[in-house]
Amino acid sequence: MDQLKTTLDQLSIPWDDSKIATFEQYRKSILEWNEKVNLTAVKDPEEFERKHFADSLFVVGHPGFQNASTIIDVGTGAGFPGVPLAICFPEKKFVLLDSVQKKIRILQLVTEELGISNVKPISGRAEDLARDPAHRENYDLCLSRAVANLATLSEYCLPFVAVGGYFAAYKTESVNAEQDEAGSAIRRLGGRLEEVITYVVDDTIINHNILWINKWKATPKEYPRKAGTPSRDPIR
Ligand code: SAM
Repeated sequence: MDQLKTTLDQLSIPWDDSKIATFEQYRKSILEWNEKVNLTAVKDPEEFERKHFADSLFVVGHPGFQNASTIIDVGTGAGFPGVPLAICFPEKKFVLLDSVQKKIRILQLVTEELGISNVKPISGRAEDLARDPAHRENYDLCLSRAVANLATLSEYCLPFVAVGGYFAAYKTESVNAEQDEAGSAIRRLGGRLEEVITYVVDDTIINHNILWINKWKATPKEYPRKAGTPSRDPIR
């Protein structure tokens, strides 16, 4: 777990052997489940550490993360970025949302087994859940990695964020083009792009970016539109 330890130190996240053991066990369980259910294309343990664990942690330096107590991870898949953050920050509460029920069932089993008690895995589509008063504008921070283009993703994510909170989108390539295309969607949904943080994980040469979008006014009631519409017909 050398890469993970390097990243934890680099980001000044406190760790001990028991945290590292939880990460190790999490990876083992997900890779075992991955033989039955397709959860991740990353099968090599070191690549898993770099691409899933280390990469997930790069939001921690921003006040949008530091000041957040309630966080939702939209399209969490096998629990990224939500689970690594939940292991490191047990005082924050994470809802892990994915539309595929099987994935959520596995997340429930694995996180329960490992005693990660500050996560709540929920199955459903973001477009439906964001209309539920129990979730709408109810989170300090919404995170999402590798789910959709930025305009679509903004319609999934910004409705969950309380006014004053943040939506943080993890993006690798094409970040500039996406940013331009999504500008009017972000504004319409009550957001404002505040900052793009670029980083590299260890010796990989790919630039990773986190787009920090501040929610400065309420999302109009008509958003998100019906499930499927934001991806078929993104706001322009
Ligand atoms: N975020 C994880 C990661 O970075 O490894 C998983 C990324 S995976 C490529 C995209 C995930 O988003 C899938 O698990 C999919 O089921 C979920 N997803 C796609 N559209 C969704 C929606 N409208 N609502 C909830 N989940 C969605």
